Amino acid sequence: MSFELPKLPYEKNALEPYISANTIDYHYGKHHFAYVNNLNNLIKDHKLENSSLEDIILVTAHDSESVGIFNNAAQVWNHTFFWHSMKPNGGGKPTGKIASRIDESFGGYENFVKEFKTAAATQFGSGWAWLVEDRDKLKVIKTANANSAVAMHLKPLLCIDVWEHAYYLDYQNKRPEFIDIFLNNLVNWDFANKNLK
Ligand code: MN
Repeated sequence: MSFELPKLPYEKNALEPYISANTIDYHYGKHHFAYVNNLNNLIKDHKLENSSLEDIILVTAHDSESVGIFNNAAQVWNHTFFWHSMKPNGGGKPTGKIASRIDESFGGYENFVKEFKTAAATQFGSGWAWLVEDRDKLKVIKTANANSAVAMHLKPLLCIDVWEHAYYLDYQNKRPEFIDIFLNNLVNWDFANKNLK
């Protein structure tokens, strides 16, 4: 069994002007694709060859001999989740169940925004920021490099990629601007609501 690059949930220019088709070409077409190919090469004839992506992540997360497999498997999963965390005409305040859960857990949307921006902006070097469900509470966390909320047994609801390759072509070094755009114009609350169920 081998993994395939999952289809993007929209056209590659659908997030313009916020994320260019050029960024998607590199980020999805080169980076995400490379993680899929690397993973397939690493699990060929390996005992995990027929495991699900989630199982590969969980099994290799704390195994120092499987760092390469973990990194590529987690990056495949994280990127697929990230593409779905955005949509054309997304962004702004949440609606539905996620809105009330955010109010309960953070004491209001503005507090959530503050926490999410801080987590995403202060992840030193490459990594991810996440909105997750941890038992009955929603939390914001950040992870370094390929590390994933999946590996931490948390239920991911949304994520943002803050590796430089996610924003450098469009925003150069201005990561905070990219985070603002993600929240104001891209974030897909329908996806977060679906993940809550
Ligand atoms: Mn990326």
